[in-house]
Amino acid sequence: MKLYLVTSNENKLKEVRLILPAGFDVESVETIAPKKDIVEDSATFFGNSLKKIEAYKDLGVPLLADDSGLVIDSLGGFPGVNSTRFMENSHYLTKMQIILDRMVNEENRAARFVCAALFYDPSNGVLVGVEGKVDGIIARKQSGENGFGYDPIFVPQGYSQTFGVLGDSVKMELSHRAKAFKKLFSLVHLYTGKK
Ligand code: IMP
Repeated sequence: MKLYLVTSNENKLKEVRLILPAGFDVESVETIAPKKDIVEDSATFFGNSLKKIEAYKDLGVPLLADDSGLVIDSLGGFPGVNSTRFMENSHYLTKMQIILDRMVNEENRAARFVCAALFYDPSNGVLVGVEGKVDGIIARKQSGENGFGYDPIFVPQGYSQTFGVLGDSVKMELSHRAKAFKKLFSLVHLYTGKK
């Protein structure tokens, strides 16, 4: 079954492909339609994920979308749903440094990555949604060059290094996106088998 992921982010596509079960194939929706400017201004990850689906549902193909972000407890959940938009025109090295500077005297380093993933069936409008999360802490400094976004400052629970150092094999096992999409693919598998 061919599914189209609403993203321009090659890293996301790569991470979803790494956990793709047999029988599924995923391409970016931008291989069949022009990129759209989607205003991700919902207060929730699911709300933004739904906006991505709605932007492309007229294509009449099965769609996948996710909205994700980093939630830091001591910063009141910041950057959260604004993970992309926070200082959008700055490099992640700068964005991460600003967060580290804001937390320099902070002992509570608890944080999590959250991912709200959706599947849309164009034949009947069915939407399937799941959430995945991974708990961890914000490191004292940036490290590692794997992954993308805030990976160099996030240390998942049970590890002493950041996702930026740990890389794809660990993210595939325990990241918010891996958990959400593993759940989503198993539900889609059940659902399409029963159709
Ligand atoms: P989205 O593409 O609208 O879901 O925005 C996700 C944003 O959250 C990314 O641009 C990153 O800033 C952050 N983010 C989400 N997932 C990850 C991840 O796996 N690693 C690092 N940053 C992430």
